[in-house]
Amino acid sequence: MTAVRVDLHMWLSRFGTKGRIGNFCTMPRIRDCAIIGAGAAGLTAAIYVARFHLETTVFDGGDSRAASIPRTLNHAGFPEGISGADLIARMHRQAMRYGAHIERQRVIRLDRAGEDFIVVTETGETRFRSVLLATGVVNHRPDIEASSHDRALAQGLLRYCPICDGYEVTDKRIGVIGAGSHGFKEAYFLRMYSRDVTLIVPECGSGLEAGERETLGKLGIRQVDGPRGQLRIDGTHLIVPTAAGELAFDSVYPALGSKICSGLASALGAATSEDGCIIVDAHQRTSIAGLYAAGDVVRGLDQISHAMGEAGVAATALRNDLAERRALLR
Ligand SMILES: Cc1cc2nc3c(=O)[nH]c(=O)nc-3n(C[C@H](O)[C@H](O)[C@H](O)COP(=O)(O)OP(=O)(O)OC[C@H]3O[C@@H](n4cnc5c(N)ncnc54)[C@H](O)[C@@H]3O)c2cc1C
Repeated sequence: MTAVRVDLHMWLSRFGTKGRIGNFCTMPRIRDCAIIGAGAAGLTAAIYVARFHLETTVFDGGDSRAASIPRTLNHAGFPEGISGADLIARMHRQAMRYGAHIERQRVIRLDRAGEDFIVVTETGETRFRSVLLATGVVNHRPDIEASSHDRALAQGLLRYCPICDGYEVTDKRIGVIGAGSHGFKEAYFLRMYSRDVTLIVPECGSGLEAGERETLGKLGIRQVDGPRGQLRIDGTHLIVPTAAGELAFDSVYPALGSKICSGLASALGAATSEDGCIIVDAHQRTSIAGLYAAGDVVRGLDQISHAMGEAGVAATALRNDLAERRALLR
């Protein structure tokens, strides 16, 4: 013990300038866990990981799809529904209560450093032992002015998730904008809620197979070419210019696909599916050790409950894998 003290004393006196000791003391620590994305998945993971007493930083770009939900009515536990923004704000508070540090910063790159990761943002670089990606997807929008888009979304004139809110358009006049099988499947799905469904196909007849066209006919789903110009709000309707003229709908569902935000993972060499989703095992581990993924960025049901479930699994796997690298003791 004495020898150690002497050595340390000699070492300190050799590097005895204030600046050097200062640098030594502020040498960057390696933190346990970075979570990228503070939506339904990222914040659930943050609550779990922070409650495992792991040092957690959450980086977020600030455009969670969950936060854009005017009122979710299928999320269990809220019989009167809850706005997405309120749900996300509550989860923020819960994560921070247990010590998660949340930064409003986009991660621009992820590098490997031995077994660790370097998270790169516009303002700096931080080293972490493990990273959980919860970066979600971004829906492709139809042609509509940005302010009208947000207003239409808030009024329920524009909707992106038939599984979530198809119930709310029961017996309403529904438009689906989408080509090929994607548009067909969404229109077919929504036919369960209303007899009045129109499929608006962006390019004339694009990609619909003969069988699909026949099914649309049998189910009474109209098919028109369009949109031929910008969508606009008219009171309680959304107007879609089509080859058959301007059509007014109670709700329109764009089925135009989405951008999967898996770029950080694929740049690092993690396996992704053909459509760009991050491939994970049953414990949400990606093909890169120490890198986990949960939520919409992983292929599955794009729902809050599913994102939360995956995040709980990912956070627990992350904790258990970390415990094999260093003892997690109090
Ligand atoms: C209009 C609408 C209504 C919906 N209604 C419902 C509903 O009623 N019920 C339901 O269960 N689901 C609903 N959903 C789906 C639900 O919103 C998603 O399934 C859920 O938000 C997925 O959570 P997530 O954490 O994977 O992604 P998100 O909640 O989208 O969060 C992803 C986060 O990652 C961040 N991010 C991305 N890249 C980076 C980066 N490089 N650096 C830092 N941060 C980054 C983004 O800024 C974002 O905050 C709806 C979706 C929409 C669009």
